[in-house]
Amino acid sequence: MTFQSYKLSENIKRALSELQYRKPTEVQEKVIPLALQKKDLVVKSQTGSGKTASFAIPICELVDWEENKPQALILSPTRELAVQIKNDVTNIGRFKRVKATAVYGKSPFDKQKLELKQKSHVVVGTPGRVLDHIKKGTLTLDKISYLVIDEADEMLNMGFIEQVEAIIKRTPMTRVTMLFSATLPEDVEALSKKYMRKPEKIEI
Ligand code: AMP
Repeated sequence: MTFQSYKLSENIKRALSELQYRKPTEVQEKVIPLALQKKDLVVKSQTGSGKTASFAIPICELVDWEENKPQALILSPTRELAVQIKNDVTNIGRFKRVKATAVYGKSPFDKQKLELKQKSHVVVGTPGRVLDHIKKGTLTLDKISYLVIDEADEMLNMGFIEQVEAIIKRTPMTRVTMLFSATLPEDVEALSKKYMRKPEKIEI
């Protein structure tokens, strides 16, 4: 099975082919069809498995280019990972002209504010700074359809639980939620039980 046989737009397939992604990895094979059906997912998988593209591909496929407000929010524990995810989304969405913005701490707020003012289909960020933008009104969540909680175990280990919950509570109830984690300890399971709707569990 190659990406060319997937139900994806030509512009996404073209980007995957230019990135030399020919065959989906195991996590991509399991996640992409379910994400395209807008199912809530809890995914246990490691970095290096291709997990970023497993959510970036369906998100790029599903975003409505015409909508100017952010439609997907991706939470990441670190700035480095946020930037990496933003770059992956930009590359996969290149021929659809999907616009992604990364927001993270210890970096000028106003520059990010300006970027968020432009069209931004996908926002990737660390919890503290995402919450700052929400509270200051520089990031609006009313059009968020897709929420990704990446490296959930790391994020909770780093003490971000309160910020993560505060953000989830501000997103529309109608959203699709995907949680990715290398391990599924009790606090991560509790988070998924509290905020996800009958998630399918995928273990790689
Ligand atoms: P990740 O686990 O998301 O950090 O991805 C690990 C690496 O695999 C990244 O460098 C990706 O660019 C690459 N990658 C992801 N999916 C594929 C694929 N289907 N084929 C080839 N490389 C991939």
